[in-house]
Amino acid sequence: MTEPTAPPPSSAAPLQFEHAEFSDPVAAPQCAVCKKAIAETYFEVTGNLLCPSCRAELLASLEGGSAASRAFRATGLGVGAAIAGAVLYYVVNLTGYNLGIIAVAVGWMVGMAVRRGSDGRGGWFYQTLAVLLTYLSICASLAPDVYAGVVSEGAQGVLGVLVTIVVSLGAPVIVGMEGPLSLLIYGFALFEAWRRNKRLEVKVDGPFRLSARAPASASPPAEASSVG
Ligand SMILES: [Zn+2]
Repeated sequence: MTEPTAPPPSSAAPLQFEHAEFSDPVAAPQCAVCKKAIAETYFEVTGNLLCPSCRAELLASLEGGSAASRAFRATGLGVGAAIAGAVLYYVVNLTGYNLGIIAVAVGWMVGMAVRRGSDGRGGWFYQTLAVLLTYLSICASLAPDVYAGVVSEGAQGVLGVLVTIVVSLGAPVIVGMEGPLSLLIYGFALFEAWRRNKRLEVKVDGPFRLSARAPASASPPAEASSVG
């Protein structure tokens, strides 16, 4: 899970990702985002101290925005990546090399595009979208071969195109049944698209009160100690 909150700190003190740092009794604890000293109340966000206003801003950025526009953007970017991936896969196949890594790269491309469109939120909807688009991209990359086969069987024109579309939708399964390696590669590609869009989880604890801390104590009080 990536840390969405804080830019790298400019001060000499490195940002602690593992646990909140209370060991220095002299320096006042500061907000990990705005770097201002914590006045009274603070929150812990995946181990980083945040002042109330930065925490509110973070939550607003995570919960705000229109879900419909995110879904729309994720679909648009995902379809674009799927088309580019299908073209790439088909062109590489034309060279005579059947590079499975390209299929996995297509899964990665589509997964990243959907993730970008969703503002990195992820979740089952975007995972399903990314897997579906990756599958369709693989279908499209196989479609020219399918069409050649359909034409050689005598179906041409609109009928030929329709048959090609229907057969292409099942082509990855057919190809996968004939070659376990292809099945494995397609599986990797779909998994790659899936795992790029796991749900973003941000753990927020608090509020904690600064005054509850024992001053200059070696051991922080229980409520301020980090769980992670
Ligand atoms: Zn702050």
